[in-house]
Amino acid sequence: MMIKNSLDIIEICTKENVPIWEVAISYEEAQSGFSREEIVEKMGRHFSQMQKSIDTGLDLDDRKIRSKMFRDDAKKLMVYRKKNKPLSGTTISKAVAYALSVMELNCSMGRIVASPTAGSCGVLPAVIISAMETLKMKKKHGVNALFTAGMVGTIIAKNASLSGAIGGCQAEIGSASAMAAAAVVEMAGGSPQMAFDAAAIALKSVMGLICDPVAGLVEVPCAKRNGMGASNALIAADMVLAGIPSVIPFDEVVWAMNKVSQIMPSAHKETSEGGIAITPTGQRLRDEIFGED
Ligand code: SF4
Repeated sequence: MMIKNSLDIIEICTKENVPIWEVAISYEEAQSGFSREEIVEKMGRHFSQMQKSIDTGLDLDDRKIRSKMFRDDAKKLMVYRKKNKPLSGTTISKAVAYALSVMELNCSMGRIVASPTAGSCGVLPAVIISAMETLKMKKKHGVNALFTAGMVGTIIAKNASLSGAIGGCQAEIGSASAMAAAAVVEMAGGSPQMAFDAAAIALKSVMGLICDPVAGLVEVPCAKRNGMGASNALIAADMVLAGIPSVIPFDEVVWAMNKVSQIMPSAHKETSEGGIAITPTGQRLRDEIFGED
């Protein structure tokens, strides 16, 4: 099965009248040699771990959160959204709390699913599980959504990169956000074309985003960017479900992201030599954590 871009996938979906997640399972069968049952069972385990990561992160004793730069932000947001009317709405505020939760667990050396990377591990679980709860979907829908997300990630990896060290944060949080947007559009009944439109809107909305982790740790700005990546995905999904298409097709957005990566300076590619990493506060935090030498 030859798949290079979203056009190939949409063509298969149209010809065979199947959603993206069906194409993803067939693609994985052809690539891995595993049976459909084995592949679905393994994705089910990834889904269960994502759910567990959210729950474990929300339950973390704040003394166990190992970050020296933040404490139980996920819990704070959960408490806030229960006591108030969150301005960003119930699904988005919950998704952001879930994303922070998974990232707090990641910072505490807990078990997460790197999807597509450890630094962006909060976005997919947050978006898919909060959308499932709003739409009252079952686990099998969440697992299917992960296959859709995986197919979108595969196209980005083939034509650009998923790595902050190569493409900046647009490649990590941007890709995770695009994957999540497509996944929930399909989950909500949108077509494959609509799913890729949502992915395009999510990705181009963070194009150029640099990778600038304070003290070289995947904590600041990473955790909050996972929250923003989750909200970006849900907003892109809602726009498309409302009938708003992406003016620039997904494959062209990926091409453009790759071009931006190529001219992005190395100071903005995970080296902590630019962006917020070199602000006075960023440098003070680095010195406090690792010492001035
Ligand atoms: S800033 Fe860099 S390390 Fe942090 S999430 Fe973005 S790409 Fe990953």
